[in-house]
Amino acid sequence: MGVRNWLKGKIFEWWGVREVMGIKINFKFDLNKYLEDRRKIKLDQLKNICPHGRIIDIKGNRIAFESLFASPVGTRQWGCSQCGCVVDHEDDVNRINERYKDNPSIILKKQERFIKKAKKLKLL
Ligand SMILES: [Zn+2]
Repeated sequence: MGVRNWLKGKIFEWWGVREVMGIKINFKFDLNKYLEDRRKIKLDQLKNICPHGRIIDIKGNRIAFESLFASPVGTRQWGCSQCGCVVDHEDDVNRINERYKDNPSIILKKQERFIKKAKKLKLL
């Protein structure tokens, strides 16, 4: 009997055979699902950062803003062409766009963050 077996014997003696045999570790870790879930969370975060629109022109103190929301024919929903965020009603689109009226610089800040994050996720 080798030292290993002897040690095993001692351990079994110590814990009681049944207890040792009873420890069963059943742990399945799905790495792909984990990564996919994490990616989904990050994609959702992306939707929060996305400005859902862009500044297309600045003339003096006038800023032209273009919403990235579009409503496909036959649906009432609106989707952002940049981040894939979907809202149920045009009112939601208007509410989002209204927010920028007082502070258009938010659009640029958000877009900058969006690009950074999207690059990290290898979407760009
Ligand atoms: Zn968006």
